[in-house]
Amino acid sequence: MKTIIEPFKIKSVEPIRMTDRPERERLLAEAHHNPFFLAADDVLIDLLTDSGTGAMSSEQWAGIMRGDESYAGSRSWVRFETAVKQIMGFEHVIPTHQGRAAERILFSTLCKTGDIVPNNTHFDTTRANIEFQGATALDLVIPEGKLPEVVHPFKGNMDVQALAAVITQYGPEKIPLIMLTVTNNSGGGQPVSMENIKEVARIAHKHGLPFYLDACRFAENAYFIKLREQGYGDKSAGEIAGEMFSYADGCTMSAKKDGLANIGGFLCTNDGQLAQQEKDLLILTEGFPTYGGLAGRDLDAIAVGLEEVLHEDYLEYRLASTRYLGEHIAEAGVPIVQPPGGHAIYIDAKAMLPHIPPIEFPGQALVCELYLEAGIRAVEIGSVMFGRVDPDTEEETPADMELVRLALPRRVYTQSHVDYAVEAIINVFERRNEIKGLRMTYQAEYLRHFTAKFEVVV
Ligand SMILES: *Cc1c(COP(=O)(O)O)cnc(C)c1O
Repeated sequence: MKTIIEPFKIKSVEPIRMTDRPERERLLAEAHHNPFFLAADDVLIDLLTDSGTGAMSSEQWAGIMRGDESYAGSRSWVRFETAVKQIMGFEHVIPTHQGRAAERILFSTLCKTGDIVPNNTHFDTTRANIEFQGATALDLVIPEGKLPEVVHPFKGNMDVQALAAVITQYGPEKIPLIMLTVTNNSGGGQPVSMENIKEVARIAHKHGLPFYLDACRFAENAYFIKLREQGYGDKSAGEIAGEMFSYADGCTMSAKKDGLANIGGFLCTNDGQLAQQEKDLLILTEGFPTYGGLAGRDLDAIAVGLEEVLHEDYLEYRLASTRYLGEHIAEAGVPIVQPPGGHAIYIDAKAMLPHIPPIEFPGQALVCELYLEAGIRAVEIGSVMFGRVDPDTEEETPADMELVRLALPRRVYTQSHVDYAVEAIINVFERRNEIKGLRMTYQAEYLRHFTAKFEVVV
């Protein structure tokens, strides 16, 4: 059979509240043209993020009921630790309430002022937690990784020559660890090849440096390796994931992604002394090392999720549904970051709306149009998020790219939902010349995209 189906049946449903265009025009105006201010009930298809928005399986809900809420040494903790060790193979597992808590503990233990942490592309919370320690987060993705239209099978790879040059330039004593983010979220959800993981690990170990994976989408990355890298076609996703982790000394993880859970995260290491220091810090802010800020039932949901996420019919469906969205809009001429990534499609709003200058936020304008057209909520990843304002002259420096991200929650929407999104995006694309830019009327000092307010430029 050529047709790929959703490999699940639906047991429990959540109704979508239908809206019409006049209602959405009123709601968007009330939300100051920033969909972060919209109530979720006013959204038909919510593609804001794939983080913590997935649907749990009946086995995960059964796990929720099995949850043991004992403060110390609960059965849920044993099941969680066993699942993590089985899949990832690290000696020490430290649970946290989400990925950024694992990052904060890791970097506050390993980094000091003036240090440098290389990665393919740091995710924003990773970067922020490194900078909070006074260290520098350095992005060393291959040049192809920065060009939206260029097709490359492993666009998340690190530039290993640039990495070697950075180690020579600063000296290994300035580099507390080297990281790779799989898949490369900020770089378009693009995978990293096994060859690249192996080579980055080799360089790190040659200089005596620990090598960590930011493992949020490890299963999606493993399946890309199976599909695209020579020698892996006959291996299972679980075997491939095991090999990826075998090169690493530790990892950080958000269970809200490939943990198939709505909350949670963890930190792993093979270094016993480091694990002890990390657990001491954990007790200070997250909780006792056998729950780390999570309920016992969350630990059980994650233990089941980590096992389910490696089912290959799930991974085939997951990558196929993202690719389906990307290929159908690209066929109609919509410019997207190529090739489609694992968890999201990114529309190149700068290429689609050349008549709107970056200072009028073409990405945000497109996000607003998608909501008006069909009640779809996407997110701008461009000058609203990453643009900089000079505090003296108030002049805007735009971001490098003006992207709109359509992130697909796991196991939540069916193909007809995706077809609906495709139709909406193509409708908006066909009348793109009528779309107007925006003017920012309010912005906060930090992370302004969450609370910025806009009006339409007329
Ligand atoms: C989501 C994410 C994180 C942070 O995890 P949270 O659970 O949101 O704190 C870190 N790195 C990557 C690549 C992510 O996608």
